[in-house]
Amino acid sequence: MPAIDGKPLGGRLARLIGAEGPIPLARFMAEANAHYYATRDPLGAEGDFVTAPEVSQMFGELVGLWLSDIWTRAGKPSNAHYVELGPGRGTLAEDALRAMRAVRFEPPIHLVETSPALRQSQAGRLPTARWHDDIDSLPETGPLFVIANEFFDALPIRQIQRGENGWHEVMVDWRDGAFVPVTSGPPLDALIPEMLREAPPGSIVETSPAVESAARGLAERIAEQGGTALIVDYGYVGPATGDTLQAVSRHGYADVFAGPGERDLTAHVDFTVLGRTAKKAGLVVHRPIGQGELLESLGIGARTAALVRAAPHRQTELVAARDRLTADDEMGRLFKATAWLARDWPEPAAF
Ligand code: SAH
Repeated sequence: MPAIDGKPLGGRLARLIGAEGPIPLARFMAEANAHYYATRDPLGAEGDFVTAPEVSQMFGELVGLWLSDIWTRAGKPSNAHYVELGPGRGTLAEDALRAMRAVRFEPPIHLVETSPALRQSQAGRLPTARWHDDIDSLPETGPLFVIANEFFDALPIRQIQRGENGWHEVMVDWRDGAFVPVTSGPPLDALIPEMLREAPPGSIVETSPAVESAARGLAERIAEQGGTALIVDYGYVGPATGDTLQAVSRHGYADVFAGPGERDLTAHVDFTVLGRTAKKAGLVVHRPIGQGELLESLGIGARTAALVRAAPHRQTELVAARDRLTADDEMGRLFKATAWLARDWPEPAAF
């Protein structure tokens, strides 16, 4: 197991649990992902998983067109900023900014990224970018044009499970050489939406203070400064029960609790919570649509045809990429997009 400080994360967490008892699942997930992203570039065919911008340049280009369209109809504000949360290899930004340049929308680039390894690959593609550890340090004036693709799913979740006598926190214990989930602590029934409280024993409800606080911080900024956010992620429209925590390694599912820090832990995003948080901050929220629907309405069909005309030998590859991004049984339906706008900003395309 590689490690940052010379010690594998699994060993450190096992000793911590040995000394202090089980830790909350959210802490386990936060530590595991911080280590995972800090120590590698997980994206692409050679890595653990492939994201939409890595499937095809068309994804980022269409996002860039979407942003440009709003910017144009908002009167082309000259003090706008491009902001991306969790920009991975910088591929989406590079493709989006190229499309934006075509209409002379060339804002300063702000990347919210914690991983030193990924910051380095972003710098190779976006040498003029500025990096931020979190949303708080983003510029305080000028409208923000924000994109977040597969960012919120990497943030830690809590799981609360129904037992024989009420709902309790899922914690992670270390037993017989393995990390195992256990429930303990005081009853948390008050945190469970009323319609779910009578779910059968064993049911799990997920919440994410980290998602809510990032969403709130972002939404408050957009409400104050103007602008928009396009959030794309896999998720559901809650409230719902279900265990959505998964580990992905080498393009397949893996054990969530084995080898913390060596595989990507993700959870589905509750779009109801995202929307409620943004509305509370005063934003106009457009309900989630499928990624397929988003890209179809933004013209992925025409864009595919244009790229095929320019490079006929790439036809099979381009059509396969379009299908992967849009088909219902691929990324088209599970991945959803929601749009936020400051009050009195133009209506977004596609929603
Ligand atoms: N958006 C990219 C990458 C998705 S992977 C794409 O679509 O290809 C998740 C990204 O979020 C990575 O860049 C990861 O380093 C970053 N990330 C994860 N947790 C983060 C956190 N708490 N703060 C900032 N960035 C984070």
